[in-house]
Amino acid sequence: MKYCSKCGNELFDEAVICPSCGCPVEGASQPNSSTQSPETKKTLRTVAKVFMLISLISSALALIAGIVCLWFDRVLAVRGISSVISLAWIIPITVYYWKSVKENRPVSVGFKVCTLLFVNLVSGICMLVEKDEY
Ligand SMILES: [Zn+2]
Repeated sequence: MKYCSKCGNELFDEAVICPSCGCPVEGASQPNSSTQSPETKKTLRTVAKVFMLISLISSALALIAGIVCLWFDRVLAVRGISSVISLAWIIPITVYYWKSVKENRPVSVGFKVCTLLFVNLVSGICMLVEKDEY
């Protein structure tokens, strides 16, 4: 017989959470659903990379469009060229993630959140959903 470390309630040996207080039982094995198949990981990484590329290309196109607009529309030009600011972080984040995937290196949660906020929502979510087990 085991006892809950939080409330002292008596527990069945196979209990994963305490039925009385709901806290997870220490030493209990995590359910197998927390592991992802290599196919799932690969798909998530691919989707993350594709959406990063879309962000990169759209920012680059906006920059090019901005430069072209310099000759006839200053306001549009400024708007387009201001996308160079987002390129300044999209490029390094994309390159870093690409390298990490290639070398099978995990990326930090902070990096993933930055991707979500500054590069692409879909990429960030894919990276956060993917579980790192290296
Ligand atoms: Zn308890």
